[in-house]
Amino acid sequence: MDRVLSYLTLDTRQFHELTLRSRVTLSQLPLSLTVLLIVAFGLAFHQELFASPSFLIGLWLQAVLLALCVLVPWDRLPHASFLVIPLLDFVPIGFMRYGASTIITGVGLLTVFPVIWLAASGLYPRALLAASFLASLAVVWVPVFVTDVAVTSQSLTQSFLLPFIMLAIGVTIRVMTASMMAQQAVVEEKDRALRGLLEESARRERLLDTVVNSVDIGVTAVDEAGRTVLANRKLEHFRALAGGAGDADEATLRIFQQDGETDLPAVRRPTRRAAEGQVFSDYLLWWGERPGQRVLSASSRLMTNQAGDREGSVVTFNDVTELVTALNARDEFVATVSHELRTPLTAIRGYLELLLGTPDLDPEVASGLEVVSRNSERLHKLVVDLLSAAEGSPEIQPVPTDFSDLVGRRVATAEEGNTNPLVAFEDLTDPGLVALCDASRITQVVDNLLSNAIKYSPAGGRVTVRAREVGGQVECTVSDEGSGMTAEEQRGVFSKFFRTAGARNAAIPGVGLGLALSKAIVERHGGTITCRSVLGEGSTFAFRLPLAHAEHGQELQEQRL
Ligand code: ADP
Repeated sequence: MDRVLSYLTLDTRQFHELTLRSRVTLSQLPLSLTVLLIVAFGLAFHQELFASPSFLIGLWLQAVLLALCVLVPWDRLPHASFLVIPLLDFVPIGFMRYGASTIITGVGLLTVFPVIWLAASGLYPRALLAASFLASLAVVWVPVFVTDVAVTSQSLTQSFLLPFIMLAIGVTIRVMTASMMAQQAVVEEKDRALRGLLEESARRERLLDTVVNSVDIGVTAVDEAGRTVLANRKLEHFRALAGGAGDADEATLRIFQQDGETDLPAVRRPTRRAAEGQVFSDYLLWWGERPGQRVLSASSRLMTNQAGDREGSVVTFNDVTELVTALNARDEFVATVSHELRTPLTAIRGYLELLLGTPDLDPEVASGLEVVSRNSERLHKLVVDLLSAAEGSPEIQPVPTDFSDLVGRRVATAEEGNTNPLVAFEDLTDPGLVALCDASRITQVVDNLLSNAIKYSPAGGRVTVRAREVGGQVECTVSDEGSGMTAEEQRGVFSKFFRTAGARNAAIPGVGLGLALSKAIVERHGGTITCRSVLGEGSTFAFRLPLAHAEHGQELQEQRL
């Protein structure tokens, strides 16, 4: 029943899903039912109808055609063969129309059923439209020719309208069917494309899932409200380590600061910071209680939608426990060794000073002692550097300092002690700059930058020093025209024990601590230090320090007095 209903309600999808035999039978049914209605009316009101042999022949033929629709295995025959039924339908309609003649009028209108069927089939549109027209014409003209009544222009044009109406209906149905078919093709095409896209997106999701869960770092994505939208297995493992079962809030996790004991405040926790839109890298966190505590390095990046608006962040957690342990062990080792070296070295330097002060020293012995003294000074500087590097954050006592004077003196000293005649100096320092800094520490920084500029300019060139006020800070730049560095090397230049391949190959003395120390000193002042360099062309190091304010300037005056 619902099949009939679906057909009657024009649910073409369901209709198309039926077998061809069912579709042929259902397509014939409207005509058969209407004929049945005529029979019922005839039995009730016009029994004389059944006295007409033509009408009875029409009825029987109609019944035979319906039987053919049901019995013939249309699905096994060539597809278009079912068209024979609507084409043959015109024959019983012709008989019935002739038989009903004036008893029941309008029987000829039954031709509308095969006409609609033929037009809606979508097959051979022109041929079937012509056949529909000619068959409808035959339905009205054949009786005129086969009866004894004289063929006149009146008798021929009496029902002439029927074939044309049928043609118009056929054309309309044909146009509608064609447009429906085209729409259906578009919908099917879109459906196919959509299914393809869905499959592709499911495939990508599986791929993402596999990749995210197979990497050895914890990954999580949070939306702007801080809700977790993705978390991989490794992250679950890290959370479990910090006592966070299931979807426990980040604030409840056991995350500590560098000492491994002080709780990290909720506002400084990584996911919270990421949800607030902060971008950070290598943020070190101590996870879980000792002894199983791990050190994780967290980084966060923003996620944006197509319009470029922020819609969350991705946070990654990398277990760097082994690296941090190794670095701590290295610092401890360096500190111990340099401590052990310092005591005998102090004795050596003391005795050397005494010996050098001895009157009437043999010139040969004196020059030998000078060499020992120079080298012990170098050794002392190295030990001091090593100790400062191991100590971590250097102690500073910032006071208003005449920065222009400090820089000028350091340039003069460097020029004096310079042993490379190919290097020329230029001091473009603005006068009167007063910085809030620890003069001895900043002297260390400027000396280091100047000695590097000289050391790494073996072929000479100009070393230019500038100091000026920039955006409420004092900026000092040291530029050289020396060997320069690659972009990759510049990234590591402020790390402890970093040396470029060029410096190592050329056997330029150094251990790679000067810049790491300079950075620590400048940052301890609340300043910044940067490096710009082009391989083979030279480098520029710049650092900025806080400017001393008016009241500090007063202090400076008093200090000078
Ligand atoms: P050191 O000079 O004792 O090796 P630094 O920390 O001062 O240590 O410098 C680290 C490394 O950076 C150097 O070994 C060198 O390779 C590179 N470098 C520093 N300054 C310069 C410069 N002005 N030009 C080229 N390379 C430099």
